[in-house]
Amino acid sequence: MAAAYDVLIIGGGPGGYVTAIRSAQLGFKTAVVEREHLGGICLNWGCIPTKALLRSAEIYHYLQHPKDYGLIVEGKIGVDPAAVVKRSRGVSAQLNGGVGFLLKKNKVDVIWGEATITKVGEVSVTATKKSIMQPQNPVPKGILGEGTYQAKHIVVATGARPRILPGIEPDGKNIWTYFEAMVPESFPKSLIVMGSGAIGIEFASFYHTMGAEVTVVEVLPQIMPVEDPEIAGLARKQFEKQGIKIRTGTKVTKVEKTASGLTATLEDSKGATSTLSAEKLISAVGVTGNIENIGLEKLGVKTERGIVVVDGFGRTNVAGIYAIGDVAGPPMLAHKAEHEGVICVEAIKGLHPHPMDKSMIPGCTYCQPQVASVGLTEEKAKAAGYEIKVGRFPFVGNGKAIALGEPDGLIKTIFDAKTGKLIGAHMIGAEVTELIQGFVIAMNLETTEEELIHTVFPHPTLSEMMHESVLDAYGRVIHM
Ligand SMILES: Cc1cc2nc3c(=O)[nH]c(=O)nc-3n(C[C@H](O)[C@H](O)[C@H](O)COP(=O)(O)OP(=O)(O)OC[C@H]3O[C@@H](n4cnc5c(N)ncnc54)[C@H](O)[C@@H]3O)c2cc1C
Repeated sequence: MAAAYDVLIIGGGPGGYVTAIRSAQLGFKTAVVEREHLGGICLNWGCIPTKALLRSAEIYHYLQHPKDYGLIVEGKIGVDPAAVVKRSRGVSAQLNGGVGFLLKKNKVDVIWGEATITKVGEVSVTATKKSIMQPQNPVPKGILGEGTYQAKHIVVATGARPRILPGIEPDGKNIWTYFEAMVPESFPKSLIVMGSGAIGIEFASFYHTMGAEVTVVEVLPQIMPVEDPEIAGLARKQFEKQGIKIRTGTKVTKVEKTASGLTATLEDSKGATSTLSAEKLISAVGVTGNIENIGLEKLGVKTERGIVVVDGFGRTNVAGIYAIGDVAGPPMLAHKAEHEGVICVEAIKGLHPHPMDKSMIPGCTYCQPQVASVGLTEEKAKAAGYEIKVGRFPFVGNGKAIALGEPDGLIKTIFDAKTGKLIGAHMIGAEVTELIQGFVIAMNLETTEEELIHTVFPHPTLSEMMHESVLDAYGRVIHM
């Protein structure tokens, strides 16, 4: 019989490792079981390596337009795909090592292997059999490995994997998921991206900038379906202006391999079919929770459509078993996973944290131009019965945006007309993924238009547009 813990977390992704650190801070004897990489999808195959790839694309884009900034770049400007991917993998590896350091510093035990809950209070760990994530580094030799571990509280943080459409199974060669799209041997000349959520759009933006002819196919009438339709519409216009082709209200029904890649059969909402050929196809139709083979069924833990059912504190229907992060449902975002984990262990400790409020989780897409949002869209606010006031401010009216050479974009704010409460903010344009947090804080503080109007924003910054958008909602906009 191996060690006994107060809290044992299955999965060392952002949800799992942050839960572990907070748990240790609270004085719990804590362990994390991880079968492949500390940092999970986020650090190794998600948030971080995509942002490294997108940074290379962004710089490449600027290098192609030096004259816009009065600069001269002479000689050949090109892309070295292997070096771009190597940089991205290096960024992941650096951060992944950092997680190991943080866990050690906080005296969290790391157990290497695949965990199964054998009964309430007990976890069995065996050597990792099958790797979904295609380990990038050999699994480090941990002090702890296979064995049986006791724990008063078991937190399932096993994350998610790509959702696969029947008949369009990834083959790793021509049909990719985000795993293959992250580490290509070369960049394709033509690409179909199936699905226009954040993952699909970020890859579309990256590969388009790197020179591929990209077509995004989305079954719903709107790209970026969770975003405010006005913002998604502006994003579409920008993407199309850049040369990305977009087919909405269209699904991929079949993919056939050809000598040069593949041919996809598309069907639009009226049932009309057409074909589209490309070198590669990225399947980005969402993710599904890793709920299988961890003992949940045997214990009677309730799951629903690929996720574990939890309350606002990560508690499942079985006492002593908790779930957080992607495996506990949408929005499947790293910051949501981390926050849920903290709430979960603080509740275990009896600290009475606020339950998870999913209405105030920001979402960011790091395409070109960026998109960021929090709270209700205009449509949803109306559907929820709010009488609303809407403010808008375009990038073209902002001095910093013009100085940066980034005049395209919009900041939109939505207020409850009765109370003045900020209930939604939606942005498109340069650096909006950095700006959105200002409105997230405002919403968490239940801020009204009065405090926001009274707030002084520094000049010249893009953030001034946030102020102007609020002013616009109340008929007081200055620079428009
Ligand atoms: C391409 C891409 C881009 C993304 N970009 C962003 C972004 O910009 N911002 C954002 O917020 N989110 C982004 N995400 C989503 C983000 O990566 C996830 O929401 C986040 O990683 C979820 O964290 P998690 O801890 O719940 O799960 P994961 O990160 O999936 O970690 C789960 C861990 O559990 C381990 N595990 C699973 N089963 C077992 C077992 N039985 N035993 C032991 N270990 C096990 C896995 O090996 C894994 O390390 C992106 C995702 C992708 C794919």
